[in-house]
Amino acid sequence: GGQGTLSVVVRNYGDGLRIVLSQDVTERERSEAMRRDFVANVSHEIRTPLTVLNGFIETMANLPLTEVERRRVLTLMGQQSERMQTLVSDLLMLAQIEGSPRPTADHWCRMSDVLQRIENDAKGLSQGRHEFTSTISPAHTVVEIAGVESEWLSAMGNLVSNAIRYTPEGGHIGVAWRTLPDGSGEFSVKDSGIGIDAEHIPRLTERFYRVDGSRSRDTGGTGLGLSIVKHVVQRHGGELRITSEKGKGSIFTLTVPVARVRLKPL
Ligand code: ADP
Repeated sequence: GGQGTLSVVVRNYGDGLRIVLSQDVTERERSEAMRRDFVANVSHEIRTPLTVLNGFIETMANLPLTEVERRRVLTLMGQQSERMQTLVSDLLMLAQIEGSPRPTADHWCRMSDVLQRIENDAKGLSQGRHEFTSTISPAHTVVEIAGVESEWLSAMGNLVSNAIRYTPEGGHIGVAWRTLPDGSGEFSVKDSGIGIDAEHIPRLTERFYRVDGSRSRDTGGTGLGLSIVKHVVQRHGGELRITSEKGKGSIFTLTVPVARVRLKPL
């Protein structure tokens, strides 16, 4: 099959001649190659911490260690197993999202609850190293958005944990919800962090794509966060927009197609 060109091919599959379009073949080959890449990436991501763990096990088995050394090794082992645990839960999240039906119109979640949960998690992750603000506008409104709460939580939570992980101590992270006049809305996360070069932005939502692999891993990243975000948003009919400036910070915005609003009771 030619690279993306459309041509007619006659093939004998054993039960008679068939005419096929060679682009179908190319498409199938491409998705097969993507699947292989994915499996290779996952294997690599699991093998690395396992290799490190095995090294530590060998050390503990063969060397007489002081109590202090023993504790140090156990801490390092814990970090590696935690890394694998995060990876597996991100993989399960991806599989779950891909395997479940599209959200229907009777799923709603309350924005203030989502923001509350996200803020709590963020504070735990930041450990007081960042300043946070969170706003809902227009003010004094109760907002419900259409969609599955666990999915929106995961998408919005991922953006906030990224903001924390890619923003140095003392930085600012602003989380905002804005209801638009047409009944849709936007959720955005703005950080004053390391920022991203323009050339990387189009590829950020690819599975395991990282701008700086070692930094991402050191801060607990799996390389799957933004691909989960993109999936969730697409399933709900919205989109992910990214603007960033290297060294200055980034803004990640999720558009949410349907929101209903009422005034907060006085
Ligand atoms: P990871 O687990 O590596 O953070 P993601 O899919 O969440 O994986 O993000 C992909 C890459 O995008 C990250 O490795 C990082 O290089 C970049 N990135 C994501 N969010 C930010 C941010 N807020 N600031 C700077 N870079 C970011």
